[in-house]
Amino acid sequence: MTRNEKNRETLERLAPGPASPAVINWEYSASLESTDHVSIAPRHNLFIGGRFVEPHSKKWFSTINPATEEELSKVAEGDAEDVDRAVREARRAYEKSWRKLSGTERAKYIFRIARLIQEKSRALAVVETMNGGKPIKESRDIDIPLAAAHFFYYAGWADKLEYAFPNRNVSPIGVAAQIIPWNFPLLMAAWKIAPALAAGNTVVLKPAETTPLTSLMLAEIIQEAGLPPGVVNIVTGGPAAGAALSSHPGVDKIAFTGSTEVGKRIERAVAGTGKRLTLELGGKAPNIVFEDAPLDQAVEGIVNGIYFNQGHVCCAGSRLFVQESVAEPVLRKLRQRIGTLRVGNPLDKNTDVGAINSQAQLDKIRELVQSGTDEGAEIFQSSCSLPQRGFWFPPTFFSGVAQSSRIAQEEIFGPVLSVLTFRTPEEAIERANNTPYGLSAGVWTEKGSRILKMAQKLRAGVIWANTYNKFDPTSPFGGFKESGFGREGGLHGLAPYVMLS
Ligand code: NAD
Repeated sequence: MTRNEKNRETLERLAPGPASPAVINWEYSASLESTDHVSIAPRHNLFIGGRFVEPHSKKWFSTINPATEEELSKVAEGDAEDVDRAVREARRAYEKSWRKLSGTERAKYIFRIARLIQEKSRALAVVETMNGGKPIKESRDIDIPLAAAHFFYYAGWADKLEYAFPNRNVSPIGVAAQIIPWNFPLLMAAWKIAPALAAGNTVVLKPAETTPLTSLMLAEIIQEAGLPPGVVNIVTGGPAAGAALSSHPGVDKIAFTGSTEVGKRIERAVAGTGKRLTLELGGKAPNIVFEDAPLDQAVEGIVNGIYFNQGHVCCAGSRLFVQESVAEPVLRKLRQRIGTLRVGNPLDKNTDVGAINSQAQLDKIRELVQSGTDEGAEIFQSSCSLPQRGFWFPPTFFSGVAQSSRIAQEEIFGPVLSVLTFRTPEEAIERANNTPYGLSAGVWTEKGSRILKMAQKLRAGVIWANTYNKFDPTSPFGGFKESGFGREGGLHGLAPYVMLS
C-alpha cells in the first residue's frame, strides 16, 4: 500500500466523507541537496588560543548522522584541563587585545564573521542537517541565515554601546562561558558569541556533544576572520566539560541554554560566586486557538509550531488549547495536514520532518508517548513509513488529554502534540499558565483586543499572535519561571554582557 493509500484509509476511518484535495499527498521525486561541496575531516581538535589543539585526554568521540547512524567524524573529548587552558587563553586575549580595541574595530571582526557565514552557508546548512537530523530546508532557510543575521546585528551595536545604554558608563564583564544544546547548534552559538564580542568580552563555548560540527566550522571562520587568538575558544566534550566550564573560577559570566535540570544544577553551583548568569531552559508552550481564528492558518501554525524541526524546539507549541466550539474541525484539519507531512531523509528538500537527534532522545519521546496512552489520552499518528536506519518518530498528537497528565506537563522535545480544549478566555489563560514553564505561547484570534489581553495574562517570555516560531535578531527571547531568566537577542541580549555604572 502506498503512503497516499494508507493516509486516505486512515482519514476515511477518522474523518469519513469525501477526501479534500489537501488529503492527497503527491509522491514527490527525491530532491537531494548535494553533499559534494562538503568535506568533513575525519578528526576534529579543540579550538583554543586561535589554534586547533589535541585534547589533554587524547580521546576523541564519535559524532554521527542521526538519519543514518553513520559516523561523520571523531571529535575531541575536552576535559577540565582543556577548559582551564581555554579560560586562561580567553583571559589573556581579554586583557591584551579585545577589551582595548575600539568598538569600531570589534565591529569589523564581527561583521567579517557574518559575511563568512553567508559565504559558507551552503556547507554549513548541509553539515547542520547531517549532524543534527533537521530538514535541509530548515537549516538552509532558518538556522544559517539567522546565525549570520545575529552577527550582523550585534556588529552594529559594537560601536554604539553608549547609545544602547544612554547616560551610563559601559564596560565589558570579562570571560564568558557559554554552553549550548543540540537543537539549533550554529544559531545558539551565534546568539551567545555575537553579543559577547560586541560588548568586548572574550568567550569559551561548549557545544552539545551530539552536534559539535558547525561550531567547529565556526571556529575555522573565526580563524579566517583574523580574530586575535583566544578571543573565541571552542571546547567540545560532554557534561563533564560543561560542568568544568560553568564552575571555573576564572569565568565572569555564564550563559547556558539547555534543560531545566542542568540549568538548576549550574544555578546552585554559581550561587554565591558573584558570577553573572543567564539561563535559557525548557518549555511547554501553549498554542491557543479561539473560535474566531482563521482555522486553516491556525492549523499551519500548529504544524509549524510542533512538527517542523521534529519538535526539537524549546519554544515548540507542544500544547494545543482549542476552543470547544471549533475543536472538531481543527482536529479534522490537523489529521489531514499531518497525513501530508513528509518524514524522511533530512537532505531531501521536500522533507518536512527529519530525524530525531539521538537514540537517547528517541527513547525519551517513546517513554512519554507511552505514558500518554497509559494515562488514557487518545493517540493519532501519521501513517507515514519511516526509514529503516536512523532515529525516527512519526508526527503524533493526543486528544482527550488531562491537564495533570505527564504529556501536558513535561517537555517531550519531539513531534508530539497534546490537545486540550477550553470554553472561555479565562479558562484558557489559567490552564495555559498551569505548568512550571513559561517560555513562549501562541494566540490565534481575529480580535486585536483579545490578543492584547492574552499577551498580558500569559506568563511567557515570547507571545506570537496569528503566527508561530518567528525569530528576528532585534527581538529578545527568554523565559519565565522554570524556563529560565535573562534575555537573548535584541538590545536586551546585550545587557547581560556589560557592566553599567
Ligand atoms: P542538556 O541540558 O542536556 O545539555 C545542554 C548542554 O549542557 C550540553 O552542551 C551539555 O553537554 C551541557 N551539560 C550537560 N550537563 C552539564 C552540567 N552538569 N554542567 C554544565 N553543562 C552541562 O540539554 P539538551 O538535551 O542538549 O537540550 C535540550 C534542552 O535545551 C531542552 O530542555 C530545551 O528546551 C532546551 N533549550 C532551551 C532553549 C531556550 O532558548 N530556552 C533553546 C534551545 C534548547
